[in-house]
Amino acid sequence: MSVSVDLSGKTALVMGVANSRSLGWAIAEQLLKAGAKVGFSYQGERLRGELEKLTAGYEGTWIQQADATNEEEMTALFARVGQEFGQLDMLVHSIAFAPRTAMEGRFLDTTPEDWNTALTVSAYTLVSAARHAEPLLSPGSSIISLTYHASQQVVPKYNVMGVAKAALEAATRYLAADFGEREIRVNTISAGPMRTIAARSIPGFGGLYDKGARNAAFGRNATPEEVGKLALFLLSDLGTGVTGQTMYVDAGLSIMTVKE
Ligand code: NAD
Repeated sequence: MSVSVDLSGKTALVMGVANSRSLGWAIAEQLLKAGAKVGFSYQGERLRGELEKLTAGYEGTWIQQADATNEEEMTALFARVGQEFGQLDMLVHSIAFAPRTAMEGRFLDTTPEDWNTALTVSAYTLVSAARHAEPLLSPGSSIISLTYHASQQVVPKYNVMGVAKAALEAATRYLAADFGEREIRVNTISAGPMRTIAARSIPGFGGLYDKGARNAAFGRNATPEEVGKLALFLLSDLGTGVTGQTMYVDAGLSIMTVKE
């Protein structure tokens, strides 16, 4: 059975595309294919060229630099969303960062600086983006972010990022409650391991990826395209009635202990 989703006339902002492997890009591809108008924000001018290349073939796309922790840049970004679109139907937060030092040693040794950086960039920016977006949202609008199972179980070396993902998942529920009366939905997608820039910065990610493929119910890892398809469901009218949830797309990895 094939379900086709028509997002023509709908608008989206995707925050956090670094290159074609980014999960944000896998999501954007589904939105563009469904006919949505999509704006992108990226962190730092060094990423501009890559994003210009990626979006070149898609009419009506636009890009703007915005560090999600910079209040002025966030204000300018959402002013641009207002100018370009007038309103916003879909907001995609695909942003995370923790200093390498916090992921090399013991969780016990996490410094307050690394804690603050990881939680601010990886969790608080969702709250900030939702607040900036609020005047542009209307009933039926949908917000998503990306999380990881290390919020629920210890994944070696993930350390403070596991705590940041737990905060992101809890923030998803609180935002969903705040937006509930207006039926604006907020959900987070828990993706299995995928080879992206952010993942490569996690010490031992290669081993984690291979183990994931062996242990998942499917005997393989989930793919960025599968993340994109779940995002399409949650962002479109297919997902009405779903809010405050952490939804897994991991080829059945999180349900397994170790396979026989
Ligand atoms: P990625 O490196 O392609 O994307 C991460 C993005 O975050 C980059 O575009 C980076 O520029 C952006 N970013 C970091 N700090 C920022 C800031 N201060 N302001 C604005 N942008 C900032 O890697 P990805 O794997 O596609 O990561 C996207 C999301 O998916 C992250 O939340 C990540 O934790 C999550 N995720 C990834 C995996 C995986 O295995 N790759 C699994 C589960 C969840």
